[in-house]
Amino acid sequence: MKFWGVRGSIPTPGPTTLHYGGNTSCIEVRGAGQIIILDAGTGLRLLGRELLAEFGESPMDLTLLLTHTHWDHIQGLPFFLPVYQPNNRLRILGYEGARLGLERVLSSQMESPFFPIGLKEVPANIRIEELKGWDFDLGPVNVRACYACHPGACVGYRLSVGSRAIAFFPDNELRRAQGGGTEPNPGPVAARAGRSSLVEFVRGVDVLVMDSQYDALEYERHVGWGHGCVDEVVALALEAQVKRLYLFHHDPNHDDAKISEMVAHARSLAAKGGELQVEAAREGAMVKISD
Ligand SMILES: [Zn+2]
Ligand SMILES: [Zn+2]
Repeated sequence: MKFWGVRGSIPTPGPTTLHYGGNTSCIEVRGAGQIIILDAGTGLRLLGRELLAEFGESPMDLTLLLTHTHWDHIQGLPFFLPVYQPNNRLRILGYEGARLGLERVLSSQMESPFFPIGLKEVPANIRIEELKGWDFDLGPVNVRACYACHPGACVGYRLSVGSRAIAFFPDNELRRAQGGGTEPNPGPVAARAGRSSLVEFVRGVDVLVMDSQYDALEYERHVGWGHGCVDEVVALALEAQVKRLYLFHHDPNHDDAKISEMVAHARSLAAKGGELQVEAAREGAMVKISD
């Protein structure tokens, strides 16, 4: 997997975010003959350029899994160059776009006066499917989803091939899963059954990428905003015997130094509990998961 965007809420270009990167949520996952993209934040633009350089005129067959339709998770789509080539196929999967349907939400961000080209006018073969089930396959890759604790309809995914698995929860507030808030979504796992089900959902994954936007002090001022506290995310990862945790959805107000501080703190917490490795997701970083 490769991180193309790791920031939360809004892109943060500039000299103080050069190390971890300023683009919003987007991860490329390759394996078992599949190219699966997790979220379409502004990092998707860079991935599109790289795919074009690799494939040239050859057709691409891509799957995009959306966690939800907040801006920082969909804004890269109009700038994703592969959709402007007619021989490419992009299958977009996600759950209902908060109150409107998924297709309606994705096309509305490209309507005039927001963007010059409508989603229906782009030449690639794009298929948007609103998911109803919570367990499905993309070729040999098994995908499971469950609701995250975040305003609107937002999910997390677990992708696995054989015994290898990764889980992606870009926007998630663990304390709400503990029963600290009322969840509007009748979700199948986490939102309904709470934190313990989330622990089971991510249990034993090789890589967990999870919203760790705030440190403990900041979090107390942002309870109910739908984002995670690094201390609580480390505790969950330890409990679920995750092998490697990537802090994700970095706060737009956090510079590189602050994020490095948060990783150091997270590592000190992890060291008390076991074998867990902790990193902060960094734009351009590649993670290999193999036997
Ligand atoms: Zn977000
Ligand atoms: Zn969000």
